[in-house]
Amino acid sequence: MKIAITQGTVVTASGTLSADVLIHGDKVLALGQPGSELTTSWAAGADRVIDASGKYVLPGGIDGHTHMEMPFGGTFSVDTFETGSRAAAWGGTTTIVDFAVQPKGTSLLAALDKWHEKADGNCSIDYGFHMIVSDVNDTTLKEMAACVDGGVTSFKMFMAYPGVFYATDGEILLAMQQAERIGALTMMHAENGIAIDELVAQAIAAGKTAPLQHGLTRPPELEAEATGRAITLAAVTGAPLYIVHLSAAQALDQVTEARDTGQNVFAETCPQYLYLSLEDLARPDFEGAKYVCSPPLRMREHQDSLWRGLRGNDLSVVSTDHCPFCFKDQKELGRSDFSKIPNGIPGVEHRMDLLHQGVVAGELSLARWVEVASTTPARMFGLYPRKGVIAPGSDADIVIYDPQARQVLSAATHHMNVDYSAYEGMEITGRVDTVLSRGHVVIDAGEYQGRAGHGQFLHRETCQYLS
Ligand SMILES: [Zn+2]
Repeated sequence: MKIAITQGTVVTASGTLSADVLIHGDKVLALGQPGSELTTSWAAGADRVIDASGKYVLPGGIDGHTHMEMPFGGTFSVDTFETGSRAAAWGGTTTIVDFAVQPKGTSLLAALDKWHEKADGNCSIDYGFHMIVSDVNDTTLKEMAACVDGGVTSFKMFMAYPGVFYATDGEILLAMQQAERIGALTMMHAENGIAIDELVAQAIAAGKTAPLQHGLTRPPELEAEATGRAITLAAVTGAPLYIVHLSAAQALDQVTEARDTGQNVFAETCPQYLYLSLEDLARPDFEGAKYVCSPPLRMREHQDSLWRGLRGNDLSVVSTDHCPFCFKDQKELGRSDFSKIPNGIPGVEHRMDLLHQGVVAGELSLARWVEVASTTPARMFGLYPRKGVIAPGSDADIVIYDPQARQVLSAATHHMNVDYSAYEGMEITGRVDTVLSRGHVVIDAGEYQGRAGHGQFLHRETCQYLS
């Protein structure tokens, strides 16, 4: 099967070019000048020609932070690998890296097996895993090496959620030492959970139970403090560090300072921190529960810092932290106590669009859009140049994006398996038109043509930003 994509504007992390793209089987075979003898012959010999005139041709998005079917507070995030990967494809994401969860007292490898079982045969796009380490001991430290051999090269730890995922500084130090030895990346949820839990208890005791309290009991200072502490532990151990879902300007300052000294510290943010705020958490009639995630949404002032961080590369990746819980019956678990509201916001479908909105608003260049959404995550998580670029030999994961189309985000039209949208009614300029995953058309001019089971597990290499 040969597909020629003609007359489009190819956007890569290094800029834009007018080029036709020839795909053979599951790979990109060549790029060539539109209208030339060469590309005319490609089109004549192709099984299918996709006219991309007036549209962008992008490497497929890579969402390095999703939680499908994740257990949390006695319930599960509602997207399965099937529904979540399909929604991702609708939004121009062709790779997800999901977090396998080690419950305390169990083995990392058993957790990995479980995540393989959940995903195997169910994904319409390719997928990989990170591993959440919630129990550090001699066995799990050894198992980290086995995970790397199995293509899982990054390990997430939590300075938040005491009693659930929380790791002590000592445990983090041990895991970082091991990560440094085996070349793995340590990912950190950086919030001071011990202090936060005291503030939460005080709020509840004072009868302050509304969703807004979730934000007020997790102040930015406690994210900045934990971020700085994680950076210090990483410096002591020599391990590279990746701060997940950075939300606060003060935490970004910590990352910037570390990077300025040459330390291998990286950070991601998420669309919800770029577009939503504490005002959403304050919505009346328990509507604020829809916006409960951790770290919490911040005051609007933080958003400028985050966009600036993205432009300057102190924030190098935008992932979604997609963790959908329905408003009905799930978010409602916390009606009388905000601390019982499952933490998470749905977003896997809208990351490319929301970031394109940043391009429209002048916050990001086209090249930077592709870089933070695809190319850098590919390198960060050991997938480049198979993913993250349109070049000969790369997987034909390609998004044809219509920059002029208009759409309104809504739960009535989205494809995630969740009963609300955090962006309900938001008008977006730009829309995914066609999506290919390894040369197979998954979204065809706005129609789903994919299939569960097409997506393959990605055996990842270690982070490619480290020498
Ligand atoms: Zn997460």
